[in-house]
This record gives sequence, structure tokens and C-alpha cells, in this order.
Amino acid sequence: MSDIVQDGIIDGKALAARVQEKVSAAVAELKARHGFVPGLAVVLVGEDPASRVYVRNKGRRTTEAGMKSFEYQLPADTTEEQLLARIAELNASREVHGILVQLPLPKHIDAAKVIDAIDPDKDVDGFHVINAGRLAVGKPGLVPCTPLGCVLLAKQARADLSGLEAVIIGRSNIVGKPLAQLLLNENCTVIIAHSRTRDLPAVARRADVLVAAVGRPGLVKGDWVKEGAIVIDVGINRVEGDDGKARLVGDVAFAEARQRAAAITPVPGGVGPMTIAMLLVNTMRAACAQHDVMVPEVLAGI
Ligand code: NDP
Repeated sequence: MSDIVQDGIIDGKALAARVQEKVSAAVAELKARHGFVPGLAVVLVGEDPASRVYVRNKGRRTTEAGMKSFEYQLPADTTEEQLLARIAELNASREVHGILVQLPLPKHIDAAKVIDAIDPDKDVDGFHVINAGRLAVGKPGLVPCTPLGCVLLAKQARADLSGLEAVIIGRSNIVGKPLAQLLLNENCTVIIAHSRTRDLPAVARRADVLVAAVGRPGLVKGDWVKEGAIVIDVGINRVEGDDGKARLVGDVAFAEARQRAAAITPVPGGVGPMTIAMLLVNTMRAACAQHDVMVPEVLAGI
């Protein structure tokens, strides 16, 4: 186990800080050797408060890592045509290497059409169908950030995941499916469970690596966890605590699951911080590919 795991808890915040430090070093190296700095454009449409916080955090982390951050906060009544025009501009910009459109978009805009309009080589969220295809057939491409973070977190508990049985609960295009591909690449035997899975507790109990990406607070009970398993909790659920205040919890009943797991990610402080860290890594990878230079050695193994 790496020193990121303390008392069985995988510290996503600490790992994210470590990844960000490496990205900063890589940015400095690119600037010195090749004379360019990676740039990330984040586009937000509307006033959703949670999205505003995410966008602000992404911008702050990008500049902290020494990269250029371009933020576009567009009004809620922005038309699909106007948004597509903005994306076309960003696709053409030489300073912008990564483009992220914050989801969800207002109902009058077709999110799939917008994602399809992003240059796949700048699609740092890895949601474009070309990148999904590249991942499926094992070609280099941009991979969604949350699944990338999940694999790195699991590897803190066990560097070699080869041969382990992995159960992922949730089959979304942004978490469950790409994570299944990544864990296959790590030579895990992968099961994807979902709302129609029969006897989910029994399926979960098979897992050496158990990932919950559902969006149901405390769905995974302690006795769903195999003794010694690695548990990665992707869920982010806002619930009311005993004191009446809102707090964030995951999809796993943390206190119970911790008794049986060898290592487990907390919520908050697990997968969440890693998602932003991997966005920085993806921006770096995209910038290097667009300038046809190698990704700096400091990022090897990430
Ligand atoms: P989706 O709603 O797209 O997918 C949820 C999945 O869970 C679906 O596949 C659904 O099955 C399955 N599901 C729902 N209910 C059950 C159940 N009772 N038993 C088993 N499976 C069930 O969610 P996302 O993948 O977008 O997100 C999942 C969670 O992860 C959310 O809480 C989200 O906030 C969080 N998240 C966190 C991120 C982070 O950075 N930490 C990033 C992205 C997401 P079916 O397909 O059959 O409907």
C-alpha cells in the first residue's frame, strides 16, 4: 500500500495534491523546453450554483498548476447555435488545448450535439464518441477524468490489480462504462452491475475491487463488501444530517464498509478531488499531443 492509504482510508485529497504538483513540474518543463503553456477553456451556460462552484474550482486549479485558464460564463438563454459558435472558436484557438463544457446544459440545448462539436483532440472530459471508441479499441485518446482517478486511487491500495475481480455498480457513459474499459486494461475481471442486476449484494460481495457509481446515499452496505476488498465510492449525494445541515455522502455506508475493506475512499475527499487532478493531466496530454511532443517524464505512471 502506498503512503496515501492511512488506516485503510485512501486519501484522495493528498493524492490529488501530489498529481497537481507533478502537473506543475511538467508545465514548467514544457515552457522551458518547448515554449508553450497548456490552456484549458471551461464553458458554463446558466446559473446553476453547484456548476458555478465546479467551474471556479477547475479554473483555480488550472492556474495554480501554471496553465492558462479561459472561463466563459454564458447566460442561461444562450442558444445552441451561439454555444456551437463559441466551441468552433475554441476548436480553432492555438492557445486552447482542452475544452470542457460544464454539464448539465439548459434543456433547450442538445448536450450530445455540443459534445460532438468539440474537437476530439481537445475533449479533455473524454466524452466525445471518438474518444469513447478509442478507449474501447485500445487506441490512444482522452479518457474521462473520474474513471482515471478511480484507477489511480485503487492502485494506491494495490499497485498491481491484475487478475482481481472488479464489480462496478453503475453503467453511465461518464463513469461506469469507461471505468470498465480501464479496469480491463489493468487485467481485472470486470462485472458491470446496474438497476436491473439480480441479487446485487451477492454480486458486490464477489468484488476484490468494488466501485459504486450510482447516486444513492448509502446503497452499498457493510455486508456487501468482501473482507479485504478495495472500495471506491464515486457517489456524491447531498443529504440532511442529524443537525439539519446539508452534508455530502457517498453511495457506500462508509463506517460499516470500512470494517471489512482493506482500503476505502471517503466522501468527500476521495474521488472528487481526483477528478479535477485528472482534468489537469488530460489538458497536459492534449497539449503535448497537439504540439507533437512527449508528455514530460514526471507524469509517467499517472
Ligand atoms: P447516472 O445516473 O448516469 O448512472 C447511475 C447508474 O446507477 C445507472 O447505471 C443506474 O442503472 C445505476 N443504478 C441506479 N439505481 C441503482 C440501484 N438501486 N442499484 C444498482 N444500480 C443502480 O450517474 P453517474 O454515473 O453520472 O453518477 C453516479 C454518481 O457518481 C452520482 O452520485 C454522481 O454525482 C457521482 N459522480 C461523481 C463524480 C466525482 O467527481 N466524484 C463525477 C461523476 C459522477 P441503470 O443504468 O439500470 O438505470
